[in-house]
Amino acid sequence: LEAASMTDPLTGLRNRRGLELALKQFDLLDQRYAAVTLDIDHFKQVNDQHGHDVGDAVLRFLAEIMKECSRPTDVLCRMGGEEFLMLLPETDASGAGIAAERLLARLRQTASPTGAPVTASIGIACSDRYASSDATFKAADEALYQAKRAGRDRVVLAPN
Ligand code: GH3
Ligand code: MG
Ligand code: MG
Repeated sequence: LEAASMTDPLTGLRNRRGLELALKQFDLLDQRYAAVTLDIDHFKQVNDQHGHDVGDAVLRFLAEIMKECSRPTDVLCRMGGEEFLMLLPETDASGAGIAAERLLARLRQTASPTGAPVTASIGIACSDRYASSDATFKAADEALYQAKRAGRDRVVLAPN
């Protein structure tokens, strides 16, 4: 029950409660991390063209790719809808950028449950630049918004 309350039932990733717990542990250990926010591009079209069940299957598919592309110590969360957050411990912006580019490359070349690849946009911010986890996530979200505005299917690092 304890584990279930921290897990997103659709994808098996952490939910917001699971994220809160991971953040407490990072705080206790005084551990830095790169925050990587990811949002699927034009996901509404996936639902509209293929139906909600295929949309759900795409979310599970993405979660599997995130797991395959990450390290055991990375924290993977579904924040809601088609928005995801990863915490990469002791990783700087360039390291997180490389990992994020690898994930997007993998997505581009893998057929999703729609029959075609889906793309995603990513924003990155490093916790040591900000006063709180909320400020770090806000910076990563702003970078994600820039990635969307610049044309999607890309990674943007928060400015230093
Ligand atoms: P953008 O590239 O700007 O991100 O476009 P978008 O279409 O992805 O934009 P938006 O974030 O507004 O749309 C998200 C859609 O995700 C809206 C909703 O229909 C769908 N959605 C949210 N939660 C779920 C879910 O659990 N399952 C499915 N199948 N769809 C969901
Ligand atoms: Mg969204
Ligand atoms: Mg989206």
